[in-house]
Amino acid sequence: MTYRVLVVGGGVIGAATACFLAARHGLRATVLERDPTYRQASSALSASSIRQQFSCEINVRLSQASLDFYRRIGDELAVDGHRPDIGLTERGYLFLATAAGLDVLRANHAVQRACGASVILLQPSALQARLPWLDVDGIAAGSLGEAGEGWFDGYSVLQAFRRKAIALGAVFERASVERVECTGNRVAAVVCADGRRFDADALLIAAGAWSAPLAEQLGFDLPVRARKRDVFVLASPAELPGCPLVIDPGGVWFRPEGRGFIAGCPPRGDDIDDAPLEQIDHGLFEEVIWPALAHRVPAFAALRVTGAWAGYYEYNTFDQNGIVGRLPGCANAFVGCGFSGHGIQQAPAVARGLAELLALGGYESLDLSPLSPQRIIDRRPLLERNVI
Ligand SMILES: Cc1cc2nc3c(=O)[nH]c(=O)nc-3n(C[C@H](O)[C@H](O)[C@H](O)COP(=O)(O)OP(=O)(O)OC[C@H]3O[C@@H](n4cnc5c(N)ncnc54)[C@H](O)[C@@H]3O)c2cc1C
Repeated sequence: MTYRVLVVGGGVIGAATACFLAARHGLRATVLERDPTYRQASSALSASSIRQQFSCEINVRLSQASLDFYRRIGDELAVDGHRPDIGLTERGYLFLATAAGLDVLRANHAVQRACGASVILLQPSALQARLPWLDVDGIAAGSLGEAGEGWFDGYSVLQAFRRKAIALGAVFERASVERVECTGNRVAAVVCADGRRFDADALLIAAGAWSAPLAEQLGFDLPVRARKRDVFVLASPAELPGCPLVIDPGGVWFRPEGRGFIAGCPPRGDDIDDAPLEQIDHGLFEEVIWPALAHRVPAFAALRVTGAWAGYYEYNTFDQNGIVGRLPGCANAFVGCGFSGHGIQQAPAVARGLAELLALGGYESLDLSPLSPQRIIDRRPLLERNVI
């Protein structure tokens, strides 16, 4: 008898879990993905940046372990001599704080240092000396990652996990899961839109922003919603030597991308569910992002928007952290979603843990129990203060 693991969702979390299940535990999962072109998948629309600057220890640890994997991804996910290149660029993050945000910046810094993160706090004069193109007006301090932070090509990561998983025996089926069937407190099968039925010994819900309706069928109210985030592509003749990913105190962020930059910020007004991805809020750039960029980097005066895209954060309205583990009330259903803007950087460590949980019944490498869905029932939020 083989142990049949079904994964709903072939984004980075589902594909990476299938990959670790095969590579480390000899289990060939079946991954059900409704759209193999990944047109709306967050993993294909991500800003794909990685940092250690979180307020929760578990997030720092997840990103450290994942960074370690990303540095070795060419070896780890090579298939037939083809070594994936994800363009990992380690240039750091810079969180800027006004006087009002200084206590939080310092408290976060203490958590990060205790985890061994290479992060330093800089006074405005030191910031100015390091990054002469930065205007430090109104800034009380900045927290700069000196190593272990940066960005990469998220779509290449997704494809690399998918290719390796398939090479190791995982099966990816084009299928849209509609119904989850249970016998007692166990998932028995899922039924797809085209009528196909897949039997399961274990089910992993890794359907990103669309995970909640599946969990609902198992009696669990997953607080995960599709929240649109716009990213603007910028051309600028500005030379910003050593430019990290910069987060202004108001939430506007920017970073280099190719020969230009990308930028974004949280939405204006209500953060509504399921806003159409085609409707980019260009007013957000004009009224919020552009003034912040021009203030912080005077050399951006000649900046032009050359493109924009939007994707969904699989936003956890309860505490903005990943929800990872067995679903309470169901013996063989598991979940990995809700990362609220930090999922692709944590995918390797999350997927490695999920594969351990599915195959061995517990975590071996990194204890992910702080992210368990049980905390939602217990009303014990694990609040992450650094959500971008
Ligand atoms: C604009 C933007 C910027 C971001 N920036 C960063 C960043 O800088 N750093 C970072 O770490 N993270 C970032 N993120 C978040 C990150 O991209 C996500 O956390 C991560 O990609 C989630 O992966 P996933 O596999 O859970 O979801 P997805 O990639 O969305 O995959 C879920 C898959 O499930 C499939 N699916 C859904 N329902 C069903 C069903 N019923 N049946 C079959 N298939 C189904 C979907 O088609 C989809 O392909 C960003 C996200 C966005 C949108």
